[in-house]
Amino acid sequence: MTSSTQHKVIIVGSGPAGLTAALYAARADLAPLVLEGIQPGGQLTITTEVENYPGFPAGIMGPELMDRLREQAVRFGAECRLELADRADLSQRPFTVQTAEQTYTAAVLIIATGASARLLGIESESRLMGHGVSACATCDGFFFRDKSVVVVGGGDSAMEEASYLTKFASQVTIVHRREGFRASQIMLQRVRDNPKIKMIVNAVVEEILSPDDEPAVRGVRLRDTTTDEVTEYPCDGVFMAIGHVPNSGIFQGQLEMDAQGYIRTAPDSTATSADGVFACGDVQDHTYRQAVTAAGTGCMAAIQAERFLAGGSP
Ligand code: NAP
Repeated sequence: MTSSTQHKVIIVGSGPAGLTAALYAARADLAPLVLEGIQPGGQLTITTEVENYPGFPAGIMGPELMDRLREQAVRFGAECRLELADRADLSQRPFTVQTAEQTYTAAVLIIATGASARLLGIESESRLMGHGVSACATCDGFFFRDKSVVVVGGGDSAMEEASYLTKFASQVTIVHRREGFRASQIMLQRVRDNPKIKMIVNAVVEEILSPDDEPAVRGVRLRDTTTDEVTEYPCDGVFMAIGHVPNSGIFQGQLEMDAQGYIRTAPDSTATSADGVFACGDVQDHTYRQAVTAAGTGCMAAIQAERFLAGGSP
Protein backbone atom coordinates (compact mmCIF):
# COMPACT_ATOMS: atom_id res chain seq x y z
CA MET A 1 0.00 0.00 0.00
CA THR A 2 1.24 3.50 -0.87
CA SER A 3 0.55 6.89 0.68
CA SER A 4 -2.87 8.51 0.82
CA THR A 5 -4.37 10.80 -1.80
CA GLN A 6 -7.01 13.37 -1.02
CA HIS A 7 -10.21 13.98 -2.99
CA LYS A 8 -13.27 16.16 -2.72
CA VAL A 9 -15.57 13.32 -3.68
CA ILE A 10 -14.97 9.59 -3.73
CA ILE A 11 -17.60 7.34 -5.24
CA VAL A 12 -17.45 3.69 -4.24
CA GLY A 13 -19.04 1.54 -6.93
CA SER A 14 -19.47 1.83 -10.68
CA GLY A 15 -22.96 0.65 -11.60
CA PRO A 16 -25.63 3.03 -12.93
CA ALA A 17 -25.80 4.81 -9.53
CA GLY A 18 -22.04 5.29 -9.13
CA LEU A 19 -21.37 6.35 -12.70
CA THR A 20 -24.32 8.76 -12.81
CA ALA A 21 -23.08 10.29 -9.55
CA ALA A 22 -19.64 10.52 -11.21
CA LEU A 23 -21.09 12.22 -14.28
CA TYR A 24 -22.91 14.86 -12.24
CA ALA A 25 -20.05 15.38 -9.77
CA ALA A 26 -17.58 15.74 -12.66
CA ARG A 27 -19.80 18.31 -14.36
CA ALA A 28 -19.90 20.18 -11.04
CA ASP A 29 -16.08 20.39 -11.23
CA LEU A 30 -15.55 18.10 -8.25
CA ALA A 31 -13.14 15.74 -10.10
CA PRO A 32 -14.64 12.64 -8.47
CA LEU A 33 -12.63 9.48 -8.00
CA VAL A 34 -14.59 6.29 -8.73
CA LEU A 35 -13.39 3.11 -7.06
CA GLU A 36 -14.90 0.65 -9.51
CA GLY A 37 -14.75 -2.51 -7.42
CA ILE A 38 -14.39 -6.07 -8.67
CA GLN A 39 -17.24 -5.82 -11.17
CA PRO A 40 -16.80 -2.52 -13.05
CA GLY A 41 -20.15 -1.46 -14.42
CA GLY A 42 -22.00 -3.47 -11.79
CA GLN A 43 -24.78 -5.98 -12.28
CA LEU A 44 -25.74 -4.76 -15.75
CA THR A 45 -22.45 -6.10 -17.08
CA ILE A 46 -23.65 -9.63 -16.38
CA THR A 47 -27.05 -9.16 -17.94
CA THR A 48 -27.96 -9.35 -21.60
CA GLU A 49 -30.28 -6.94 -23.26
CA VAL A 50 -31.72 -4.06 -21.23
CA GLU A 51 -35.16 -3.37 -22.67
CA ASN A 52 -36.47 -0.86 -20.15
CA TYR A 53 -33.81 1.83 -19.93
CA PRO A 54 -35.46 4.98 -21.29
CA GLY A 55 -34.07 6.27 -24.57
CA PHE A 56 -33.19 2.92 -26.12
CA PRO A 57 -36.36 1.81 -27.95
CA ALA A 58 -34.60 -1.18 -29.50
CA GLY A 59 -32.92 -2.13 -26.19
CA ILE A 60 -29.22 -2.01 -25.42
CA MET A 61 -26.79 -4.64 -24.16
CA GLY A 62 -26.03 -4.12 -20.45
CA PRO A 63 -22.23 -3.96 -20.84
CA GLU A 64 -22.53 -1.43 -23.68
CA LEU A 65 -24.82 0.80 -21.62
CA MET A 66 -22.29 0.80 -18.80
CA ASP A 67 -19.33 1.44 -21.15
CA ARG A 68 -21.17 4.45 -22.52
CA LEU A 69 -22.01 5.78 -19.07
CA ARG A 70 -18.41 5.40 -17.93
CA GLU A 71 -17.14 7.17 -21.07
CA GLN A 72 -19.59 10.01 -20.44
CA ALA A 73 -18.43 10.44 -16.82
CA VAL A 74 -14.74 10.31 -17.79
CA ARG A 75 -15.31 12.86 -20.56
CA PHE A 76 -16.22 15.44 -17.90
CA GLY A 77 -13.30 14.65 -15.60
CA ALA A 78 -14.22 11.64 -13.47
CA GLU A 79 -11.32 9.31 -12.70
CA CYS A 80 -12.13 5.60 -12.58
CA ARG A 81 -9.78 3.17 -10.87
CA LEU A 82 -10.10 -0.59 -10.96
CA GLU A 83 -9.71 -0.95 -7.19
CA LEU A 84 -11.89 -2.52 -4.52
CA ALA A 85 -12.61 -0.50 -1.40
CA ASP A 86 -12.09 -3.00 1.40
CA ARG A 87 -12.12 -0.73 4.43
CA ALA A 88 -13.64 2.61 5.32
CA ASP A 89 -13.44 4.92 8.33
CA LEU A 90 -16.39 7.27 8.52
CA SER A 91 -15.79 8.33 12.13
CA GLN A 92 -14.10 11.60 11.17
CA ARG A 93 -13.76 13.89 8.19
CA PRO A 94 -12.07 13.65 5.81
CA PHE A 95 -13.30 10.09 5.46
CA THR A 96 -10.79 7.35 4.76
CA VAL A 97 -11.24 4.58 2.20
CA GLN A 98 -8.67 1.84 1.73
CA THR A 99 -8.03 -0.46 -1.18
CA ALA A 100 -5.28 -3.05 -1.50
CA GLU A 101 -3.32 -0.45 -3.47
CA GLN A 102 -3.83 2.81 -1.63
CA THR A 103 -5.45 4.81 1.16
CA TYR A 104 -7.71 7.62 0.00
CA THR A 105 -9.33 10.46 1.87
CA ALA A 106 -12.44 12.34 0.81
CA ALA A 107 -14.43 15.30 2.02
CA VAL A 108 -17.57 13.58 0.76
CA LEU A 109 -18.24 9.92 0.18
CA ILE A 110 -20.88 8.55 -2.17
CA ILE A 111 -21.64 4.89 -1.60
CA ALA A 112 -22.93 3.09 -4.69
CA THR A 113 -21.75 -0.43 -3.99
CA GLY A 114 -24.94 -2.09 -5.23
CA ALA A 115 -26.02 -5.60 -4.38
CA SER A 116 -24.86 -9.15 -5.13
CA ALA A 117 -26.66 -12.38 -5.86
CA ARG A 118 -28.26 -14.03 -2.87
CA LEU A 119 -27.47 -17.71 -2.42
CA LEU A 120 -29.37 -20.49 -0.69
CA GLY A 121 -26.57 -21.04 1.79
CA ILE A 122 -26.45 -24.83 1.58
CA GLU A 123 -23.13 -26.67 1.63
CA SER A 124 -23.53 -28.33 -1.79
CA GLU A 125 -24.15 -24.93 -3.38
CA SER A 126 -20.80 -23.48 -2.29
CA ARG A 127 -18.96 -26.75 -2.99
CA LEU A 128 -20.32 -26.95 -6.54
CA MET A 129 -20.20 -23.22 -7.37
CA GLY A 130 -18.41 -23.04 -10.72
CA HIS A 131 -18.87 -26.81 -11.16
CA GLY A 132 -22.45 -26.79 -12.39
CA VAL A 133 -23.82 -24.21 -9.95
CA SER A 134 -23.90 -20.57 -10.99
CA ALA A 135 -25.58 -17.26 -10.18
CA CYS A 136 -25.06 -15.80 -13.65
CA ALA A 137 -26.66 -17.28 -16.75
CA THR A 138 -24.98 -14.83 -19.10
CA CYS A 139 -21.59 -15.79 -17.68
CA ASP A 140 -22.04 -19.56 -17.61
CA GLY A 141 -25.02 -20.46 -19.83
CA PHE A 142 -22.70 -21.34 -22.68
CA PHE A 143 -21.41 -24.39 -20.76
CA PHE A 144 -24.87 -25.97 -20.75
CA ARG A 145 -25.45 -26.51 -24.43
CA ASP A 146 -28.01 -29.30 -24.93
CA LYS A 147 -28.13 -29.91 -21.18
CA SER A 148 -30.93 -29.69 -18.67
CA VAL A 149 -30.77 -26.91 -16.09
CA VAL A 150 -32.74 -25.71 -13.08
CA VAL A 151 -33.29 -22.03 -12.29
CA VAL A 152 -34.25 -21.27 -8.69
CA GLY A 153 -36.46 -18.23 -8.02
CA GLY A 154 -39.72 -16.54 -8.95
CA GLY A 155 -38.74 -12.93 -9.71
CA ASP A 156 -37.75 -11.12 -12.88
CA SER A 157 -34.17 -12.37 -12.56
CA ALA A 158 -35.32 -15.99 -12.60
CA MET A 159 -37.52 -15.35 -15.66
CA GLU A 160 -34.74 -13.52 -17.46
CA GLU A 161 -32.15 -16.19 -16.65
CA ALA A 162 -34.52 -18.99 -17.69
CA SER A 163 -35.35 -17.33 -21.02
CA TYR A 164 -31.70 -16.68 -21.73
CA LEU A 165 -30.68 -20.23 -20.88
CA THR A 166 -33.05 -21.67 -23.51
CA LYS A 167 -30.53 -20.45 -26.11
CA PHE A 168 -28.23 -23.21 -24.95
CA ALA A 169 -29.98 -25.73 -22.75
CA SER A 170 -32.33 -28.40 -24.07
CA GLN A 171 -34.60 -27.93 -21.06
CA VAL A 172 -34.92 -25.27 -18.36
CA THR A 173 -36.93 -25.89 -15.20
CA ILE A 174 -37.85 -23.02 -12.91
CA VAL A 175 -38.18 -24.12 -9.30
CA HIS A 176 -40.10 -21.66 -7.15
CA ARG A 177 -41.05 -21.95 -3.50
CA ARG A 178 -44.68 -20.81 -3.84
CA GLU A 179 -47.42 -20.47 -6.44
CA GLY A 180 -47.41 -16.70 -6.79
CA PHE A 181 -44.66 -15.01 -8.74
CA ARG A 182 -42.95 -11.70 -8.01
CA ALA A 183 -41.93 -11.43 -11.66
CA SER A 184 -43.58 -8.87 -13.91
CA GLN A 185 -46.40 -10.15 -16.13
CA ILE A 186 -44.51 -9.59 -19.36
CA MET A 187 -41.50 -11.62 -18.26
CA LEU A 188 -43.66 -14.34 -16.73
CA GLN A 189 -45.73 -14.64 -19.91
CA ARG A 190 -42.59 -14.91 -22.03
CA VAL A 191 -41.49 -17.84 -19.90
CA ARG A 192 -44.91 -19.49 -20.01
CA ASP A 193 -44.93 -19.20 -23.80
CA ASN A 194 -41.54 -20.86 -24.14
CA PRO A 195 -41.92 -24.61 -24.79
CA LYS A 196 -38.41 -25.29 -23.46
CA ILE A 197 -39.28 -23.96 -20.00
CA LYS A 198 -41.06 -26.00 -17.36
CA MET A 199 -42.15 -24.76 -13.94
CA ILE A 200 -42.20 -26.53 -10.60
CA VAL A 201 -43.92 -24.48 -7.93
CA ASN A 202 -44.24 -24.98 -4.17
CA ALA A 203 -40.80 -26.56 -4.08
CA VAL A 204 -37.47 -25.72 -2.47
CA VAL A 205 -34.03 -27.05 -3.33
CA GLU A 206 -32.79 -28.89 -0.24
CA GLU A 207 -29.62 -30.24 -1.75
CA ILE A 208 -27.70 -30.14 -5.01
CA LEU A 209 -26.65 -33.66 -5.93
CA SER A 210 -23.34 -34.61 -7.49
CA PRO A 211 -21.87 -37.88 -8.75
CA ASP A 212 -19.64 -39.66 -6.21
CA ASP A 213 -16.48 -39.24 -8.20
CA GLU A 214 -16.49 -35.66 -9.52
CA PRO A 215 -17.51 -32.11 -8.64
CA ALA A 216 -20.48 -31.79 -11.00
CA VAL A 217 -24.25 -31.59 -10.81
CA ARG A 218 -26.47 -34.59 -11.45
CA GLY A 219 -29.70 -33.26 -9.94
CA VAL A 220 -31.43 -31.51 -7.09
CA ARG A 221 -33.32 -32.81 -4.09
CA LEU A 222 -36.63 -30.98 -3.90
CA ARG A 223 -39.02 -30.68 -1.00
CA ASP A 224 -42.64 -29.90 -1.73
CA THR A 225 -43.57 -26.99 0.55
CA THR A 226 -47.21 -28.08 0.78
CA THR A 227 -46.81 -31.84 1.35
CA ASP A 228 -43.18 -32.08 2.59
CA GLU A 229 -42.64 -34.84 0.01
CA VAL A 230 -38.99 -35.14 -1.05
CA THR A 231 -38.05 -36.04 -4.63
CA GLU A 232 -34.94 -36.07 -6.79
CA TYR A 233 -34.99 -34.11 -10.01
CA PRO A 234 -32.21 -34.79 -12.52
CA CYS A 235 -30.37 -31.85 -14.12
CA ASP A 236 -26.87 -30.87 -15.22
CA GLY A 237 -26.75 -27.36 -13.81
CA VAL A 238 -28.39 -25.10 -11.24
CA PHE A 239 -28.71 -21.32 -11.56
CA MET A 240 -29.54 -19.27 -8.48
CA ALA A 241 -31.81 -16.30 -9.14
CA ILE A 242 -33.28 -15.65 -5.70
CA GLY A 243 -32.61 -11.96 -5.33
CA HIS A 244 -29.78 -9.92 -4.01
CA VAL A 245 -28.08 -8.74 -0.83
CA PRO A 246 -26.72 -5.21 -0.45
CA ASN A 247 -22.94 -4.76 -0.55
CA SER A 248 -22.74 -2.71 2.61
CA GLY A 249 -20.37 -4.87 4.69
CA ILE A 250 -17.49 -2.39 4.96
CA PHE A 251 -19.84 0.27 6.37
CA GLN A 252 -21.44 -2.04 8.92
CA GLY A 253 -21.57 -0.41 12.35
CA GLN A 254 -20.73 3.02 10.89
CA LEU A 255 -24.02 3.87 9.19
CA GLU A 256 -27.63 3.14 10.01
CA MET A 257 -28.90 0.13 8.09
CA ASP A 258 -32.05 -1.96 8.07
CA ALA A 259 -32.14 -5.59 9.16
CA GLN A 260 -31.15 -6.77 5.66
CA GLY A 261 -28.12 -4.46 5.53
CA TYR A 262 -29.61 -1.82 3.21
CA ILE A 263 -28.18 1.60 4.11
CA ARG A 264 -30.86 3.90 5.47
CA THR A 265 -31.24 7.25 3.74
CA ALA A 266 -33.40 10.21 4.75
CA PRO A 267 -36.79 10.50 2.96
CA ASP A 268 -36.48 12.00 -0.55
CA SER A 269 -32.72 12.15 -0.04
CA THR A 270 -29.54 10.12 -0.34
CA ALA A 271 -28.19 11.46 2.99
CA THR A 272 -27.13 8.67 5.34
CA SER A 273 -26.80 8.81 9.12
CA ALA A 274 -23.27 10.28 8.72
CA ASP A 275 -22.92 13.91 7.59
CA GLY A 276 -21.18 14.03 4.22
CA VAL A 277 -21.88 10.39 3.34
CA PHE A 278 -24.50 9.74 0.68
CA ALA A 279 -25.80 6.40 -0.57
CA CYS A 280 -27.50 5.67 -3.87
CA GLY A 281 -28.63 2.73 -5.98
CA ASP A 282 -29.28 -0.84 -4.89
CA VAL A 283 -27.25 -0.58 -1.66
CA GLN A 284 -30.01 1.66 -0.26
CA ASP A 285 -33.03 0.71 -2.39
CA HIS A 286 -34.80 -2.57 -1.79
CA THR A 287 -38.02 -1.39 -3.40
CA TYR A 288 -37.39 -0.46 -7.02
CA ARG A 289 -33.89 -1.80 -7.82
CA GLN A 290 -33.94 -0.71 -11.43
CA ALA A 291 -31.04 0.68 -13.46
CA VAL A 292 -32.97 3.86 -14.08
CA THR A 293 -33.88 4.41 -10.41
CA ALA A 294 -30.27 3.70 -9.45
CA ALA A 295 -29.13 6.31 -11.97
CA GLY A 296 -31.71 8.73 -10.56
CA THR A 297 -30.48 8.38 -6.99
CA GLY A 298 -26.87 8.64 -8.25
CA CYS A 299 -27.78 12.03 -9.69
CA MET A 300 -29.39 13.03 -6.37
CA ALA A 301 -26.28 11.98 -4.43
CA ALA A 302 -23.98 14.10 -6.60
CA ILE A 303 -26.21 17.16 -6.32
CA GLN A 304 -26.44 16.70 -2.55
CA ALA A 305 -22.65 16.25 -2.34
CA GLU A 306 -22.11 19.47 -4.26
CA ARG A 307 -24.46 21.38 -1.94
CA PHE A 308 -22.84 19.86 1.13
CA LEU A 309 -19.36 20.92 -0.04
CA ALA A 310 -20.64 24.41 -0.77
CA GLY A 311 -21.69 24.62 2.86
CA GLY A 312 -25.41 24.52 2.20
CA SER A 313 -27.78 21.91 3.45
CA PRO A 314 -27.65 18.75 1.34
P1 NAP B 1 -36.73 -10.60 -6.34
O1 NAP B 1 -37.73 -9.83 -7.13
O2 NAP B 1 -36.48 -10.24 -4.92
O3 NAP B 1 -37.15 -12.13 -6.43
C1 NAP B 1 -36.46 -13.11 -5.71
C2 NAP B 1 -37.18 -14.42 -5.88
O4 NAP B 1 -36.41 -15.44 -5.23
C3 NAP B 1 -38.56 -14.42 -5.25
O5 NAP B 1 -39.44 -15.12 -6.08
C4 NAP B 1 -38.33 -15.15 -3.94
O6 NAP B 1 -39.45 -15.90 -3.55
C5 NAP B 1 -37.21 -16.10 -4.28
N1 NAP B 1 -36.38 -16.41 -3.11
C6 NAP B 1 -35.78 -15.54 -2.27
N2 NAP B 1 -35.07 -16.20 -1.32
C7 NAP B 1 -35.26 -17.51 -1.57
C8 NAP B 1 -34.80 -18.68 -0.95
N3 NAP B 1 -33.99 -18.64 0.12
N4 NAP B 1 -35.18 -19.87 -1.45
C9 NAP B 1 -35.99 -19.92 -2.54
N5 NAP B 1 -36.46 -18.84 -3.19
C10 NAP B 1 -36.10 -17.64 -2.70
O7 NAP B 1 -35.28 -10.55 -7.02
P2 NAP B 1 -34.87 -10.48 -8.56
O8 NAP B 1 -35.65 -11.41 -9.37
O9 NAP B 1 -33.39 -10.61 -8.56
O10 NAP B 1 -35.26 -9.00 -8.99
C11 NAP B 1 -34.70 -7.89 -8.28
C12 NAP B 1 -35.15 -6.59 -8.91
O11 NAP B 1 -34.55 -6.43 -10.18
C13 NAP B 1 -36.66 -6.52 -9.15
O12 NAP B 1 -37.09 -5.21 -8.91
C14 NAP B 1 -36.81 -6.85 -10.59
O13 NAP B 1 -37.95 -6.28 -11.19
C15 NAP B 1 -35.53 -6.27 -11.17
N6 NAP B 1 -35.15 -6.98 -12.41
C16 NAP B 1 -35.64 -6.47 -13.58
C17 NAP B 1 -35.34 -7.10 -14.77
C18 NAP B 1 -35.87 -6.54 -16.04
O14 NAP B 1 -36.82 -5.76 -15.98
N7 NAP B 1 -35.31 -6.86 -17.18
C19 NAP B 1 -34.55 -8.26 -14.77
C20 NAP B 1 -34.09 -8.76 -13.56
C21 NAP B 1 -34.40 -8.11 -12.38
P3 NAP B 1 -40.74 -15.20 -2.92
O15 NAP B 1 -41.43 -14.51 -4.07
O16 NAP B 1 -41.51 -16.31 -2.35
O17 NAP B 1 -40.23 -14.22 -1.88
